[in-house]
Formats: sequence, structure tokens, C-alpha cells
Amino acid sequence: MDPLDIMMNLDKVIPYYQPVVSADTRQVIGYEVKAYYKDDEGEKQRLDWFFKDDSIPQDFQLEANSKIQEKALDDFLKTDPSLSLFLNYDARLLYEDDGETLLNLLHTYQDKGLALHRIVIELKEELITEEMNSLRQLFKYMQTLGIQIALDDVGKTNGNLGRLVEFEPNIVKINVGFLKENKLPQLYQDVHYSISMLARKIGATLLFKGVSTYNQFNYAWRNGGRYYQGNYLLPSQPHFAELDACKEKMERDFQLFVNFETKKMTAQLELTNRINKQFGATLQTIKPNAPYDEIIITVGKECTPFAFRVYICNDEGIQLSSNAEKNKEGQWELYYEGRHKNWSWRPYFFENIVRMNVEKKGILSDLYTDIDRDEQIRTYSYPIANNRYIFIDIPYNYLYEQEGLL
Ligand code: CA
Repeated sequence: MDPLDIMMNLDKVIPYYQPVVSADTRQVIGYEVKAYYKDDEGEKQRLDWFFKDDSIPQDFQLEANSKIQEKALDDFLKTDPSLSLFLNYDARLLYEDDGETLLNLLHTYQDKGLALHRIVIELKEELITEEMNSLRQLFKYMQTLGIQIALDDVGKTNGNLGRLVEFEPNIVKINVGFLKENKLPQLYQDVHYSISMLARKIGATLLFKGVSTYNQFNYAWRNGGRYYQGNYLLPSQPHFAELDACKEKMERDFQLFVNFETKKMTAQLELTNRINKQFGATLQTIKPNAPYDEIIITVGKECTPFAFRVYICNDEGIQLSSNAEKNKEGQWELYYEGRHKNWSWRPYFFENIVRMNVEKKGILSDLYTDIDRDEQIRTYSYPIANNRYIFIDIPYNYLYEQEGLL
């Protein structure tokens, strides 16, 4: 389609509304406006390309965008006052005219009774460049008017998370649409985990969009999403969806999520208890003054069903023993080069040391990728003596065979 055709037929540009639902109320809390073009035959197509294409004059894009937003705002004025309207805006356009077009439009509707706190302005994170620093003041100003700012597609590119801190958006949007069913989302999960921690620190709400399957919904829920969008929940429509339109589905799924997590937690606790018991028995047979390498070989052999590597560290993270490792034939061997390595830089290291000291019992780590084996493992650690901690790495295939440990 020719961009000029769009400009000549702005009356055929219409808003669609994609519902945003919230975990806490299980209700629709707002709608994101999407631009569609409806031709004479009634065929509809999305107009994303029109707003993404750099070769289209910005004046055209601004005009078409305002047109669609006017139509949406006219509709929106008639809705429940608790609902929000999410308007997409190109950061470059906002930067070009310092928000004038947008603010004029919103003030016009404010005169017609629109409360500005019901408006969320969505900007794509990747389009905000270094030189747009003045946007920061504009965002702050808009936020003092009550307008909410959402950063869209956060974490999509190698974006810098510092921008979240810099711009302090009210809402952070993450796309989960690219997570395929059978791919392990562990790595994304770590990125999304950092975003979610950062969002929590700056007091922003996480919104997961592109939710088109049960698994993606589950992923979003597990990663701290409060708001969700996507066809799995509710599709974009030319009208506003009912508030309770997917309440039943959400409640049913949340129930399943909780059951599953409970099972997982139980499996982890059971494994910890099993290892504790096995390990406790092994510990009885070890002489307290035995050399470290003798201890790790003994422990490795005793724990051979679920261990592939054993070593001992002190509370500063210095490895005191070699590595005892199980070879392909199932024999345990010593690798001396592990000695004196410093593991204190590893995430959770000190937290776990302190926990072991306080709780005086073994701890099972989260799932993480072992650098040498390039597979996901867990580590069991136990305080064997004053300032001496033993670490037992559990391989993927063992975890895989037990239900609920991955
Ligand atoms: Ca958007």
C-alpha cells in the first residue's frame, strides 16, 4: 500500500484495542491502541509498517497517529473510569516536537472530561537514543501531569538496563512471544529476572506481552508479571473487551501454576532431605582430620547416584581441595588444578555460606548452567566443619529423571 493512500483516506484508519489484563484482579485494566486500515471491501490490515518506515515523512506519521488516537479517545471517554488507555508513540516524534502534539491532544480531551492518569504512553526502548536525553525531562513533566510512561520491548536488543533507572517508567513491557515451546528459556529467564528486579527497585510494573500460549503465560507469571497481553488471553478487537472477559481462564491457569510450583518446591525439598540423609550417613564414616582430597573422594563414591563433582571451600570462597570428578566409566578421580581457586564472586555464594552457618544444614541451589559441561545443574552444599563447606554438583540427567527438579 502507498503511504499517500493512507493519508488520503485517514477516515479508513481505525483503532483496534488489545486488552491488558492484571494478575491481581484477573480483570481487564486497560487497552492498547493498535492502528488498522479498513478498505472499501472491509478487509483489515495492521498499519505497523506505516509507523516504522523511516522513509515516510514524520508529518504524515504524526497526523495519522493523532487521527487514530482521537478516534480511540472518543471511544475511551465512554468507558469505565477505572480503565487505562495505552497509546503507542514514536520516541523520535515525541523528541522532535518536545511532546507538543501529544500534550495538545491530551489537553483537548482533558477538557472533555478525560483524567490524564488513565493514559499510558508507550515508547519503544530501542528507539530512544543517547541524544534524546531531553526526553527524560519530558517524561518527568508528563508524569507530574499523571500520565504514565511505559517502555516497550525492554531487553529485546542488547539494550542497556541503565535506561530503566534513567527514565523511571511506570510500566516495563517485555515480549515473550519469541519463547518457543521446547526451547529452554533459562537464559532469557536470567535476563528477564534482572529486568524484573530492576523494575521492582524503581517501582515499575512488569507487563508481559505477546502471550500466545499457556507456557508463555506461565513463564510471564513466574517472572513477576503483573500485567499481560496476548492472543492466548484476549485478542485485539475493534471494540473494548468486557472487564471479566478472561477472568475464568486466568483463575483456572493460576490454579494450575500454583499446583505445579508446589509440586516443584516439594520435589526440591524432598531431594534436599534425601541428600541430607545420605550425606549425614557418609559424614559419620569420615575421620574429622582426614585430608580434604580423601574426604571428597569418599563423598563422591557414596553419593555417586546423584553427584558428578565434589570439592571443599572455606568461607572466603577459596577452594581447599582438588576436584573429585566422576569419569565416563563412573570412577572417581582427582583433578588438582581446582585447588586455590576463588569462587567468592559467584552469585549467591555468600548468601549461601551465611544460610548454611545459620541453618546448619545443606542447601540446594537454583538451576544454572555449568561452564565446563555446558548443561544445567544444581549444587548441594553442606557445612562439614567450622569454616569448611562441601559442594556436590548434581548433573542434568539426574535432575531430569526426578519430577519437578528442572
Ligand atoms: Ca506497543
